[in-house]
Amino acid sequence: MKFSAVRDETSAPYFDALREGRLILRSCTRCGHIGRPDTLSCSSCHSDELTWVGSTGDGVVVSAVVDHASAPEPTVLALVELREGPWLASRILDVATASDVPVCTPVRLRITEFVDGEAIPMFVLAT
Ligand SMILES: [Zn+2]
Repeated sequence: MKFSAVRDETSAPYFDALREGRLILRSCTRCGHIGRPDTLSCSSCHSDELTWVGSTGDGVVVSAVVDHASAPEPTVLALVELREGPWLASRILDVATASDVPVCTPVRLRITEFVDGEAIPMFVLAT
């Protein structure tokens, strides 16, 4: 699985924040619902009036799989439910198999890798 990073006018604040070591999410100014960074309208009230809010970077694993096709070695991919609510598809670093990160395993944001010149959010086991 290849992670892609596409900077445009809408995503620029997101990538700028990651470069500074912060994960930001979209918050609805009408109802307060917090959504994924790539959200264009509120999934709760459908408003397109969104602002950026900071994430704690804390979450839990919802599901994990091993991608054996990734080079140079297999990687663990996971859906992570952030403390603020949104789910992110990401990679869990420093683990070998999906059984290392069963459902509800606490994880923490780690921004260490760059794809296409942009920082990408990944996760490690919370200690
Ligand atoms: Zn809303």
